[in-house]
Amino acid sequence: MTWLGGADGEGRDMSAQAASARAQAVPAGYTTAELYPPGRLAQAAEAAARSGLDALLLTPGPDLRYLTGYDTHQSERLTCLAVPAHGPAFLVVPRLELASAQGSPAAGMDLEFVVWDETGDPYSAVAQRLGDIATVGLAGQMWALMVLRFRDAMPGARQALAATALRGLRIRKTPAEVAALAEAGAAIDRVHASVPQWLRPGRTEREAAADIASAIAAAGHARIDFVIVGSGPNAAKPHHEPSDRVLSHGDAVVVDIGGTMPSGYCSDCTRTYAIGAVPPGMARYYEVLREAQEAACAAVGPGVRAAAVDAVARDAITAAGHGEHFTHRTGHGIGLETHEDPYIVAGNAEELEPGMVFSVEPGIYPGPDGARIEDIVVCTPGGHQRLNNASRDLIVAGA
Ligand code: ZN
Ligand code: ZN
Repeated sequence: MTWLGGADGEGRDMSAQAASARAQAVPAGYTTAELYPPGRLAQAAEAAARSGLDALLLTPGPDLRYLTGYDTHQSERLTCLAVPAHGPAFLVVPRLELASAQGSPAAGMDLEFVVWDETGDPYSAVAQRLGDIATVGLAGQMWALMVLRFRDAMPGARQALAATALRGLRIRKTPAEVAALAEAGAAIDRVHASVPQWLRPGRTEREAAADIASAIAAAGHARIDFVIVGSGPNAAKPHHEPSDRVLSHGDAVVVDIGGTMPSGYCSDCTRTYAIGAVPPGMARYYEVLREAQEAACAAVGPGVRAAAVDAVARDAITAAGHGEHFTHRTGHGIGLETHEDPYIVAGNAEELEPGMVFSVEPGIYPGPDGARIEDIVVCTPGGHQRLNNASRDLIVAGA
């Protein structure tokens, strides 16, 4: 049974968490069709053909949302966008999810909805429609449950990753995507502006993190993705989970926070604070970090290799004697996912291009504490633009 889409469908993707925020599902000044252009399905088909994939199969996740604007959860009932390299795309939807699919931007696209009922076999339906194909590209985050069912339904098709085809599209952001990421950046900047008031001696990391999480939602995010509050010795652990450690005078506190906006685009920003007073020795290495982060941002521009941006930060930190205390890559791409291509890491010879968006987040963790500064940066035709602009000073809370 099929249903041919055609209705207008803007913005059903507000989770209950942010319903009160009433934030726009598209960045100001842009339309849904500009953020999620209907032409992307054709671009994806061409990219699949170029990559030697006969079809892409995309279950709920960032690839599905990128191509259709449809944001839905994975479940054992198959929802799957099929994009043949040559032929019309179709969206397989369980009947009970049809209304939400119809309410998404997917409904405004040239996309057939293939509805299946509880007793149906959607895997066979996909296989029959695709016919005899040699290679199929699967969403990287597809559940193994589905990968294996597709393998059984299409025993002659070699399974590969859809990212081979989609990577080149998703890595270059459109102006609407950059605007969505800029809104995310501004929202998380507003949260950081309020962070010092929650970092008070006697409170736990967990209590501070709860206040910060509420502020992330209040700032317009639809989802809180992570809240890292690492105080004292925990500031030396880059991915520390908030604990019951009690904040005290003289602590360093690394606060790395991010969420997803109603547009689907993510924020991610780190600032380092001190409570009451800067810990001994920290002012010096913080200044090294600040200059390294500044230099790495300044190095961003078209034609510059991703590895070169990492090297700028790393060389500055190493020259100051802290090379061994910078234990992670300099950054990661960001968009519909917090971590995506391009990765700003040694060995990545990829040249930056206008529209690429990524973090620049060196850290120095010498113990007993540590610090990190993270901004999201866009490569522009003339160089770069930062999407985070909260103060990068070592802010002393309660001072
Ligand atoms: Zn971060
Ligand atoms: Zn990050």
